[in-house]
Parts: sequence; C-alpha cells; structure tokens
Amino acid sequence: MAPSPSSSHPPPHLQSQVESLHGIGTVRARQLRALGVATVADLLEYFPRNYQYESAERPISQIKSGPLQLARGTVAAVDYIAARPRPRFEATLEDGVQRLALVFFNGAYLRGKIHPGQVLRVQGTVRFFRGIPQMANPKWEVIDASTAAIEEAKFRPVYPATARLPSETIGRIIDENLDAAVAQLPEWFDPDLPARRQLVGRTDAYRMIHRPASPEEAGNARRRIVYDELMLMQLGLGIGKRLRQGRLSAPLFRIDRLLDQRIRARFPFQMTDAQQKTVYEILRDLGSGRPMNRLLQGDVGSGKTIVALYAMLAGVANKLQSALLAPTEVLAEQHFLTISNLLRDSGVKIELFTSRTRRGDHGELARKLAEGEVHIAIGTQALIQKGIEFANLGLVVVDEQHKLGVMQRAVLRGKGYSPHYLVMTATPIPRTLALSYFADFDVSVIDRLPPGRQPIKTQWYRADQAGLAYDFIRQQVRAGRQAYIVLPQIDDDRAGAGKSVKREFDRLSKGPLNGLTLAMLHGQMETGPKQAVMAAFRNGATNVLVATTVIEVGIDVPNATVMLIDNADRFGLSQLHQLRGRVGRGSEASWCLLISDPPTESAEQRLQAMMRTSNGFEIAEMDLQLRGPGEFFGIRQHGLPEFKMADITREIAMLHQAREDALKLLDGDPELKSPAHAHLRQTLLRQFGDGLGLAQVG
Ligand code: ADP
Ligand code: MG
Repeated sequence: MAPSPSSSHPPPHLQSQVESLHGIGTVRARQLRALGVATVADLLEYFPRNYQYESAERPISQIKSGPLQLARGTVAAVDYIAARPRPRFEATLEDGVQRLALVFFNGAYLRGKIHPGQVLRVQGTVRFFRGIPQMANPKWEVIDASTAAIEEAKFRPVYPATARLPSETIGRIIDENLDAAVAQLPEWFDPDLPARRQLVGRTDAYRMIHRPASPEEAGNARRRIVYDELMLMQLGLGIGKRLRQGRLSAPLFRIDRLLDQRIRARFPFQMTDAQQKTVYEILRDLGSGRPMNRLLQGDVGSGKTIVALYAMLAGVANKLQSALLAPTEVLAEQHFLTISNLLRDSGVKIELFTSRTRRGDHGELARKLAEGEVHIAIGTQALIQKGIEFANLGLVVVDEQHKLGVMQRAVLRGKGYSPHYLVMTATPIPRTLALSYFADFDVSVIDRLPPGRQPIKTQWYRADQAGLAYDFIRQQVRAGRQAYIVLPQIDDDRAGAGKSVKREFDRLSKGPLNGLTLAMLHGQMETGPKQAVMAAFRNGATNVLVATTVIEVGIDVPNATVMLIDNADRFGLSQLHQLRGRVGRGSEASWCLLISDPPTESAEQRLQAMMRTSNGFEIAEMDLQLRGPGEFFGIRQHGLPEFKMADITREIAMLHQAREDALKLLDGDPELKSPAHAHLRQTLLRQFGDGLGLAQVG
C-alpha cells in the first residue's frame, strides 16, 4: 500500500525520533529505545531474527495439522464451561463441509464477543482429535465474508523482543510505517553496481527483509543489506587510508648500507630470512614520507622484537624518537631489559616509564623526553597519554594491543604528532578480518621461527590426573628447568570462578610441589615486587612461577620448559595459544600441560583444538568462529561500527566483492563529493564519526 498523499500524518523523516510516528507515545518510544531503536531509520534497521511460515488461509475442510494454520468459518455454536480449575470458552466453526473446534482457556471475556452467525478468521496450531481439527487459544478476528480477501501464505518476521514489547507489536509498528519509510531510502550507489552483483535495490531490500513473500526474497534482501554494510565499512576504511596517504606526512627515515651494518652488528644472531623480509617492508614505509600503518605478524617466538628494534634504531640514527608500548608493565619491563642488554655501551638512551617511575622521577624523565634526551621510551599506553611530550616522535611500536590503535592515533594527532605505526601481533589475522577491521593496515608476516626451536608437546589431563602433571614438573625442575603454572583468577572471591593464584600457591607449596621454590605473580601486585619476582624467575632462583595471564604475552625465559594451565577451559583459544608460546623459547624440548574437565561443548572444542594444532593461523580462525568478531581482539573498541546484519566470520566472498567495489568507487570519487554520493557520504560521517578522520573530508 502506498502512503496516501492526503494522510494527515506526513511521512516522518528517517532521522526523526520514533515519537513522531503515528500511534507511538512516550511509553512505546521508551520501550523501543530500550531495544536501541530511537529513530525511524533505526526502526527500519531493526531486522528480524528469523521468519515464521504462516500457511495460506484455507477452508476448514482442507486444514492441516501444525502451527500457524489459518482458516475461516462461520460460528455454529458457542459454550462457556465454568469448570474449575480451568474454565473455558468453546466455539465451533464450520464451512459447510467440516467443523473446527476452538477452545479458549479462561475465555470468560469472550462470552459477549463471539456469537453464532459471525464469520471468523482464526490462526493457531491445529491438532486432530477423533477426526475433528481443534485449535487451542487461537488468534481470531471477525471478518466480513463478502469483502475480506483470502489471506495468502506469508513469512512473518520474528523480531528480537522483550516481554513488554513482543515481536508482534514490533512487527506491527514496522509494518505500518514500512512503505513511507522505505520510500525515503534512495539508491545510494550507481544502479549498475547492485545490478552487476545481482543484488536487489535498496528500497526493495528493506521492504523485503521485513515483509518477504518467500524465503528467497528474505535471502535476497539479506544479501543486499549485508553488502551495503560491508561497503560502508570498506568505504570508510578506504577514505581513511587515502587521507593518511595523501594528506598526512610523516618523518622521513634515511638509511644506508653503513647504518644497516651498524644496526645488525648489535644483534647477537643473524636475522632469519623471514625477519629480513619484514625489515625491508618496514624500511620502505619509513622512507616514504607517509605514515606507516603496519601490522607485524609472527607467531609467538618468531622474533618480532628485533625487527621492531631495527626500525627504532633507524629512527635514532635519523634523530627521531621511538615509543614502544606494551600491554602490561611486566611486559614493558621485559622489553626494557631485552633492549637495554642488546644496546649496552651504545649511546642509545632508553627509558622505562612505569607507574612507579611516573610517581618518582617522572618529572625528570618527562623533561628528558621532551628535550630529546631519550631516544627510545618504553612503557604501557599511559606513556602517550596526558602530560607527556616528545621532542621529535618518529615511530610508535605497539605490542599486542590492536584495539588501542585508532584511539592512540587520535591522541597523538591531537598533540600534533603523526608518527609511523608498527603494531606487533602474535595472533594471525583471519582473512575476513584482514579484509575488514584490519583493512587499513599493511601486513608483514614473519612466517618462520628462528632455527633450533623444538615443537611444544601439548598434553591434556583431567582434574583427577593433575598429580601426573605435578610429578612431571618436579622431574623437569630436577633436570634444571623451570615451569609456569597459570590460573584463571587471583583470589577466590568470585564464587565458582575457578582456582586462584593465591590459594594454589599455598596448596602447591605445601603439597604437590613441596620443596621447590615457588613464586606468585599477578596484576594486582605493585611494580616493585612484580619486578623482583620476574628477576628471580629470569635468573633461575625460582623454579615455578604461579601466575595469572599477566604472563600471557612477551615473557621470554628460555629455561622455562613447562607451561601448566589449570582450569584451562576458562581461557579463550587464542589466549591458550599465547600462553603456550611462553615455553619452547630455548633449545630444550617443552611441554604445555592443560588441566581441565571441560563443562561445555565449546570449552571441549577449544581444548581439542589445542591438542590438534599449534598453527596460530588455524587457532585464530577457529577462535573467531567460536567467539565472533566482537570479542576477538576486543574489536568493539577498535573504533569501527558493529554490523547489524553481516556475519563477518562467514562473508568472505561478499567481503571481497565489497572491497573491490568500494576501492573502484573511491577511484572515481575519492571523497564522495559527487551529488550522487551525497547520501552515502552523510551516512559514513554519521557512522564513523571522526574515528577515521572522515570529518576532515570536504
Ligand atoms: P616474539 O615474536 O614472540 O616477540 P621475540 O622477539 O621475543 O619473539 O623472540 C623470541 C626469542 O627468539 C628471543 O629470545 C630472541 O632473542 C630470539 N630470536 C629472535 N630472532 C632470532 C634469530 N634470528 N635467531 C635466533 N634467535 C632469535
Ligand atoms: Mg614479543
């Protein structure tokens, strides 16, 4: 039905609040807002969860058993049976051939409403009893048999609903406003584009997603909407990337053979070919004058630190400062020690910024940094926040914190810096994410481990076999090795949340690991004690470190050969893989021991995956499937919008198409300035805000 031009309610604008809709008052509006629906556009984008098939209206004599059957007939008789405990109202419909029995429990209120002679249309679940079809508590309406058309079969959308706002009500609100709303949706691409991809038009898509005539229509609608979501994302990313490349300039790193040799001479080993290749890629970016935005991906232990250090030293030679940001203080300190060792007697000034130094010598350190006396600043992300200034920041290296990328860049841009970015990650980016959330990164991969590494053996023990695992640790310690024991929490205060570091430390010291030297490490400890514990473990004074996942990334103690993860089902798959990567860093054989009685199927799948493969890429793909992209990498904080329809873990083909189409579209109209793209551009601005620098466009 087309909106009537004489209607007293002009169609509300897509961006109007839902109150502007006919029949929506403050109460309904509040209920809708609770579902995230504030505007008419939100309503259009409130997509059905699935569809219910409603059969066509049939004469009673042709009715079938099953749910959502629709029939019409004349009321032949009614009766009210006041029997306790379930009083009921009964009615008989007939169509001249067959009877249909209706029963309404607690239906006293129907006595004045349903009378013999009326024609009813009823809908409900049909069951046959002694050859007579029956419906209990059907939906019903009185119709005028001479005018009411026979209802066709349809797919009724089922919306995510609440008790106050059931799917049917949502469906009715959407249905009443659908035609007027979709009429305002312009096709925002050159019509060739959807046609070439065999996609339906935009208006059709939104109409058919809410009111499909068949499953095929719903499927076509879905494809188009997914395509649009992916296109918007690709356009946003594409524009952001062009901006960075075209308008922003970054410090120029010059490097020659002599410098290259000097840097290499600092390293105690030869770089592998895989490391070498990534160094070249990075140097090309650093010498381009445009800000590098590169992901350095390599499995745990592949040697990313050296590659990053190479880049930082190239900066030092060019009188540019570098910042190395680690996710935890423990890891920042680890980097500080590693790099200080490598650069001993070199004249390169390295400083560690932790919460402790911030309180103590903070002022002095900050001054040195601001005056360029510090060449490499190492710390957590706090380093780039607030009062810190750099004399000449050239490069920011971020270790294992993808989600901070966008935010950090905004902070730094706000301070007037546009450094090069290198983000190190041990978690391979699954293909779908590489094409979406990480599409504005260039990627370098270290795909080989340094020589001499032995594969890590993984073993899974049930809780009642844990003794075997502890015996194994004793045996390794006797052979001069060390072990980690990781637990899901620090204290026992959260009920049912698994074993804790503190309690296990006591239990193991007195019991299964009695006689060994144990130490505890967790995130609530002060920096000082933390550093002392790590130092003692590093120099071998401690045999076994009982810890939380503070040791998840970056810890590098080659003599540690056992990683025992207790309550292993409580950890995500990528997290387990990361933890496993803490061992196998020397030339000795290493083991990862998992203790778990998995309580759920997905927990069991994670453990099976750990047993089956140590390929980081496979693990990441599986983790993405199990958890979805929102949690994977903490993407939610990445600065990009979530999808309402697209399931990014599965849309690989569509993603490729959208990417190709978006890049082509931007080739023709780089900043979406053509009038035909005005609507697209507006939407992008609204969706991405300033997250990708879009506000600077035009
Ligand atoms: P990750 O990629 O996990 O950060 P690291 O940079 O910590 O790995 O390196 C892991 C270990 O491998 C370190 O002990 C490092 O000294 C060593 N290493 C790195 N590159 C090489 C190489 N080319 N040859 C031998 N050992 C290397
Ligand atoms: Mg590392």
